Amino acid sequence: MNVPFLDLKTQYHVFQHEIEEKALEVLESCSYIGGKYVKDFEDQLAAYLGENMLAIGCNSGTDALMLALRACNIQPGDEVITTSFSFFATAEAISAIGAVPVFADIRENDFTINPEQIVSRITNKTKAILPVHIFGTSCQMDEIMDIAHTHNLKVIEDAAQAIGSTYKGRKVGTLGDVACFSFYPTKNLGGCGDGGAVTTSEKNLATIVYALREHGAGKTGAKARELLNGISEDQTISEYSSDLYDPYKYYNYLIGYNSRLDAIQAAILSVKLKYLDSFNLARKRIAAIYNERLTDKVIKPAYEDSTSNSCWHQYVIRCNNKRALCDRLMSLNIGYGTFYPVPLHKQKVYGYNESLPVAEAAAAQTVCLPIFPELKETEVDYIIDSINKFMDE
Ligand SMILES: *Cc1c(COP(=O)(O)O)cnc(C)c1O
Repeated sequence: MNVPFLDLKTQYHVFQHEIEEKALEVLESCSYIGGKYVKDFEDQLAAYLGENMLAIGCNSGTDALMLALRACNIQPGDEVITTSFSFFATAEAISAIGAVPVFADIRENDFTINPEQIVSRITNKTKAILPVHIFGTSCQMDEIMDIAHTHNLKVIEDAAQAIGSTYKGRKVGTLGDVACFSFYPTKNLGGCGDGGAVTTSEKNLATIVYALREHGAGKTGAKARELLNGISEDQTISEYSSDLYDPYKYYNYLIGYNSRLDAIQAAILSVKLKYLDSFNLARKRIAAIYNERLTDKVIKPAYEDSTSNSCWHQYVIRCNNKRALCDRLMSLNIGYGTFYPVPLHKQKVYGYNESLPVAEAAAAQTVCLPIFPELKETEVDYIIDSINKFMDE
């Protein structure tokens, strides 16, 4: 048997007709940037997450993080506390806006940032906390929000892996000041290319993100500049007035980005969003089989408890003989992942001397097993039998 780690083709074929019809509709419309398809998807995503939410599409999850950080007015030199156990983009986005990522260690049982570790890293330069709902598991958001309120910090959720996960009955991506999603093809809601979104319930933050994703231009740019710099509209008008041109039309008010979500991606994501809950449920069923039947000689993920419901982006086991297990899986043609073999504080560009032992142990032990909605039960059985046999040898 040959079991891929992920099989995008099968999912494409399930929705091929609907996706192609939508994509062709966008092509025919010639409304490729902004417009109806993007707005519709943004509204659908916001409604999916919860009441009073706003969603702003952008180019990628990485851009979503940069836009969200800048919307929170994080400045060069400011410190942002984040987890060491995540995809590189989490830290990269902080560095890319000139701020400094400060890495905290994780909780042993679910790989999320350890709130106690956050507190011990707060300095007078700390401006925000950036928790990552890694593998689909919600962070300890009550504790994190309490810390943030006490120390007057912003909270930016990296929910790139956790669309549909909940914490105490609320969707992740609605819990901090602002949140970031990725629609990279391998994510639970994956597009046919790059894409991302920033979500927030705060209108002012949304205004700044709208402005930054389009070069800080126009009326939205002016408003965003006022919000970020605490200046009034009268001031803006007097500063920028001219007899020759409309100040709102021809001025850029912030150094922003070109980071829009393509209409064609938005239309495809609108199709797939309708099925997201059923995709996530299919993943949950597979996780339940792994949990029940995998040997206790590997450590199984403890992602879920009474407060946390996972979208099961990854099913991650820990074992002491990772190399040998990976070799075995490879020889049996079973796909696997090893997220994340290098914790962020050990990345060459960061090169921390400090040791974060829990993240380092996780990096040395984690093996991600296939978990995607179209994975067949016979394939899950084959994976489980293969691992159990290996662990018994
Ligand atoms: C995928 C991912 C990102 C980046 O998203 P892109 O769309 O690939 O830019 C950021 N953070 C985490 C945790 C991710 O998994």
